[in-house]
Parts: sequence; C-alpha cells; structure tokens
Amino acid sequence: MAALLVPDDRQEEEPDILAKLRKGERVDHFETLRRCKDGSLIDISLTISPVKDHQGRIIGASKVARDITQRKKSEKRLLEQAYLLDLSSDAILVRDAQDRIVDWNKAAERMYGFTREEALGKISHELLRTEFPEPLPAIREILLRDGRWSGELSHLRRAGSRIITLSRWVAERDQKSDLIRILESNNDITERVRVQEELRRANQDLEQFAFSASHDLQEPIRSIKLYSELLACEFGDNLHPDARRYLEYLRSGATRMETLVRDLLAYTRAGLSDEPAEITDANKALQAALSALSGATTEARVRITSDPLPTVQVRATHLEQLFQNLISNAIKYRSPDRAPEVHIGAKRQKLQWDFTVSDNGIGIEPEYKENIFGLFKRLHTSEEYSGTGIGLAICQRIIDRYHGRIWVESETSKGSTFHFTLPV
Ligand code: ADP
Repeated sequence: MAALLVPDDRQEEEPDILAKLRKGERVDHFETLRRCKDGSLIDISLTISPVKDHQGRIIGASKVARDITQRKKSEKRLLEQAYLLDLSSDAILVRDAQDRIVDWNKAAERMYGFTREEALGKISHELLRTEFPEPLPAIREILLRDGRWSGELSHLRRAGSRIITLSRWVAERDQKSDLIRILESNNDITERVRVQEELRRANQDLEQFAFSASHDLQEPIRSIKLYSELLACEFGDNLHPDARRYLEYLRSGATRMETLVRDLLAYTRAGLSDEPAEITDANKALQAALSALSGATTEARVRITSDPLPTVQVRATHLEQLFQNLISNAIKYRSPDRAPEVHIGAKRQKLQWDFTVSDNGIGIEPEYKENIFGLFKRLHTSEEYSGTGIGLAICQRIIDRYHGRIWVESETSKGSTFHFTLPV
C-alpha cells in the first residue's frame, strides 16, 4: 500500500498506539482513516505488533494496513437501509428463500408484538399464523413470475388478536434468477376493512329499506288515486266546487307520488345485485326503449336517428333503462324554437364503447354538468317540466355497476350530448 499520512484530527492515535507497543501489546484491527498522497481519505484497518529481539526487547513494530473502504461503504448502506426500514410505518420483514425472517423493522415489532430477536430465524407464516387469500404455492408462482405479489393477509399478533394487512412482496433474485430474499411490507388495514364492511352492510340495509318502502308504498298510493278518481267520477256533481278542487289536488298529488315511488324503486333496483352481465345487442335495447317511448316521441314529433350499435356485456334491462331515461330527457327538454332531433351513436375505444345520446334541446349550464347526476337534482320546477330528478341518478348507478363513466357535454340553448361508456 502506498504511503499513508495520519490526518490532522487523528494525530493523537499514534502516541496511543506507540504506548501500547512499548508495553508489548498488539493493536488488532484498529479501524481508522488515513490520507493518501493524492489527498483522499480511505478507511483502513490497522494491525500493529511489536517486533522483539531474542531477549524479548522491543526493537520495532510490524504494521499491516488493510483498505476497508468497500466494506465500510456497504456497512453504511446497510445502516442507512435499516434506518429507512425503521422509519417506515409499515411492518417490513425480509425473508430468505426458505421464508426464514432475516430482518424485522421497528414497525413490525409494534404491529405484531414480537421483538427483532424473537422474530429473526423464524418461518414468517408460522410465527404469524398467516392466512393466505390463495394457496402459498400459487402466490410463490406469481412472485417468481412477476417479481412481486400483493394481497390481503390475516396475521396473528403476539397478544392473540388477528389483524388484516395489505401485504406487498418483492422478490430479490441472483444472477441465475434464483430467489435469494423476499422483502415483505405489511400495512395494517384491519380498521379500514371493518369500516368498509360496516358501510357495506349499512348500505345494503338502506337499499333493502328503500326497496321495500317504495315497493310497499305503491299499493296505498294506488288506492288513494283510484278512490279519489271514483269519488270525482261518481259523486263529483253533488260536491261543492271547493271539494271538487281538493279532490283534484289529492289525485294529482297521488299521481306525482306514484311516479316518485316508481322511480325510486327503479333506482334501488339498479343498485341491487342480480344475475351477472350478459351479451346484449344495443340495437335491440334501443328498439325496446323507443317502443316504450313511442307515445312521447309521436306527440313531440321527434326525429330519432342512430348509428349501427354494437353488442356489449351488460344486462339488457340496464341498457334499455339507460336509453329510455336519456332519450326521454332529450324529448322532454326539447327547445321550443326548433323541431326536436335526437341521435344515438357509439364509438369504439380501446376496451370500451362510448355511447352518445345527443339532442338539439335547451342545453345545460356548464356549472350544473356534474350536479344533475345526483339523486333528486333538478334544474327546473315541476311546473316548468314534470319530473322527479331520479332519471340521471339511475343512469349513474347503472354505469357505476359496470365501472363505466357517464357525463354530459352541452351548450346552453343549442343542445346536449350525454356520453356513457360500457365494457366491450
Ligand atoms: P328529471 O328529468 O326527472 O328532472 P333527471 O335526473 O332525468 O330528472 O335529470 C336531472 C336534470 O337534468 C333535469 O331536471 C334537467 O334539468 C337536466 N337534464 C337532463 N337531461 C337533459 C337534457 N337532455 N337537456 C337539458 N337538460 C337536461
């Protein structure tokens, strides 16, 4: 090794070393810094032994200096890694190819209650009594194929309670692609899963409640409507004009309630899980919707045109409902200034179809473009346009089921184009 100089701040080391040598002691693997001729500092390990003559007198010293720069660097890297691991709020464990734990950070200690010493060397899924979402060999296969895996695991803590974690595994492989280590990072999602489950159940109850309530309300409303009509018809002539007017309010109120309840029922139905999606010919769904709307179409003298439509993976009743709600709105919100026209189109995107229902009606102010898809959201009074504010909320619900998107593009006084996407 080239000549090494003692840096200024290490000058006091030499007298100490000399003092030890004088006493006949060795200095073993003393790690320090030395300056090279070019001025750079290197990490070295010094081993210095006294050299004695045959009478045991110290006559010199042998000095071996080893360059340990590389080792120091990797130690520093490991320390930094360990520091970073401990900073993480996720429990991080490193396993070898046999699933034995070789590293275990502070968050893992906190999450599971086992200290690092207790965890090291243990088979991770034995220590944590892991419950896997699929058999371990299948998970390993994915890990080897993709280099990573993630999923929900159930783990037993030292204190005896189970937690659910979102677990992410990353495989480290050697040059021959053999697995050396697995880095596993676990985030405790027990509380989130519990709240989600609670929310799901509450939602389900609410849906069931809304469904039963709207379903059961139909009958009494029908009676009110029927008997107020009978009363007006059979005894109307004998009634005081005020009584006849009140009867008319009763009848129109009941009719409005009937529509509201019918729409609410359709809304809750759109959210209920039923049979899986089927392959539906959108042309047929459109025809079904148009025949249901034939009265309104004829009355308003609407010109309806359409592109050839594709088949999509959606329940036919859902697609019919989408067309029916959007086309009936296109007719209802027509402009008084021109003959109403509605066009139904479809354009293929990568993995979905973009359907459009365009009209030349009154249009929608830009600030309400998102609002209108909410339940009971209306931009007009019932005197201006009849309605319940549920039609677009039903469309939104149906589209949500298929993970699609629904939105509107519109220019006030010129018309609107409603878009919705559905899987191919
Ligand atoms: P409803 O028609 O019963 O009021 P919707 O949920 O179907 O309820 O529509 C919500 C609101 O969006 C409507 O009140 C109307 O103001 C607006 N809207 C819907 N479709 C159109 C359209 N094609 N043109 C103009 N406005 C529309």
